[in-house]
Amino acid sequence: MHGRSIRVHGRLPRGVCVTGEGDGHATGASGVLLTVTLADCVPVFVVDPLRRIVALLHAGWRGTAAGVVEAGLDTLSGAFETHPKELLVHLGPAICGCCYEVGPEVFRALDEVAPRTPAAIDLRSVIRRRAVAAGVRNEEVTVSGECTLCGDGRYYSHRRGDRGRHRGYMGILPRTGAGSG
Ligand SMILES: [Zn+2]
Repeated sequence: MHGRSIRVHGRLPRGVCVTGEGDGHATGASGVLLTVTLADCVPVFVVDPLRRIVALLHAGWRGTAAGVVEAGLDTLSGAFETHPKELLVHLGPAICGCCYEVGPEVFRALDEVAPRTPAAIDLRSVIRRRAVAAGVRNEEVTVSGECTLCGDGRYYSHRRGDRGRHRGYMGILPRTGAGSG
């Protein structure tokens, strides 16, 4: 939806359950598979390994400007009492900082220094800075090197004109025994 609405999911009956629209999902229930659809936008994977909580956010420039990353972290804090400094964040395959040329208005919307003419922006770097500003430790943010546009073609790219969408998934495996995580 390119906004900042995060849905929290509890334990669900076994079987397929498709929820309504949103910009991100969070759960502490094992067996619940979160998913977002993408074509150049950034899948933001968030894990609280101590509390066994996960979130998966969809962050394009509009959602990032709307604060989807901060909303995701706030939702985790509010619903699960996570602390940003204890989270692990991974920014998955997305359009890279060389391929993603945007107008000055996009830079302004993201609170970045705006060039006078269209220029390339690295959305994942912007998201990393925003996550760190919200309390995530910089060393706990990892970034995929894969680009959906100039990569090997296994992802869809909106900029390339693809109509398809790939998906990011995240979930928590059930505990299988003492000491396992
Ligand atoms: Zn690229």
